[in-house]
Amino acid sequence: MRYAMRVVLVSSVEFLLGCSSDAAALASSDGGAGDAEVPDSGKKTDGAIDTGTMCSLATNTTATTTVTSECTLVTRDVSSCQALRMSQGLGGAWLNFSCRVALTKSGSNVTVGADSQPDYKSNYFSSTDACYTKYTTTFPDPNSISAQTLSMSIPLSPSTTGQAMGFGVVGVAINGVEIFDNVAAPGDDIFLEAGSFDPCQGHPAPGGRYHYHAEPYSISSNDSNLIGVMRDGYFIYGRLDKDGTVPTLDTNGGHTSATPDSTTAVYHYHVNLQTSTAPATVGTKAWFLTTGTYKGAPGTCTGCN
Ligand SMILES: [Zn+2]
Repeated sequence: MRYAMRVVLVSSVEFLLGCSSDAAALASSDGGAGDAEVPDSGKKTDGAIDTGTMCSLATNTTATTTVTSECTLVTRDVSSCQALRMSQGLGGAWLNFSCRVALTKSGSNVTVGADSQPDYKSNYFSSTDACYTKYTTTFPDPNSISAQTLSMSIPLSPSTTGQAMGFGVVGVAINGVEIFDNVAAPGDDIFLEAGSFDPCQGHPAPGGRYHYHAEPYSISSNDSNLIGVMRDGYFIYGRLDKDGTVPTLDTNGGHTSATPDSTTAVYHYHVNLQTSTAPATVGTKAWFLTTGTYKGAPGTCTGCN
């Protein structure tokens, strides 16, 4: 079975209580691209996937494949916003962003508005929220999800003047959830912090800022699906290229080839496998969204810090 072998992470809890906006990836004990494992980040205590109470954030999503026992890959119906986007001249990958994400073309940039709330249930919503589902993570995260107000300016023609990513938001997923880099809060081990992820691989930072560091299972699971766009304007896809092969990536975690959204070769990022060198988790592998550096210069953002 795909998830038969699981890594048991060290049971230290204190580090997360002071965790700022960082934390981390899923752990796996081997490196096979088609056989990666998810972190055993907890146990759901009230049964299988919660399809009970209606979560309004999940409107226009349709469940497909079950990825873990508590997270399902979903498709997002974008028909209600496609015409508006096309009328602005947006095409390709931009047409795959959830209608919960506001896209406005502005000169040579696209302004992306998002609230960073997941479009599925999470144990990190307030327990009185219709989008709450019960689940116990290995490590507690004391924060609860709250709506953010993000406004990112993303260049339509990305540069190649790369730079290191800073703390905070480095991109946005197609469902409007923020993407963070692959670094933990100072003094913390990001591979350990993976134990605080909810079943779909997100968790909230202080201020209720829900975000992904690692392969987000409601969007992509060992496939070539579009995951989102980074602030430098390059899109990010799942582990595989559209022909099903595992790409060879540069130090930024990207390469140039055709994508599911482009028949001509374009630069893009991929979910990429990394190995911990930290003492407590040395050798642990995880599928991160970034390597910590941008290929191009990031656009401006309000609400990203
Ligand atoms: Zn590729």
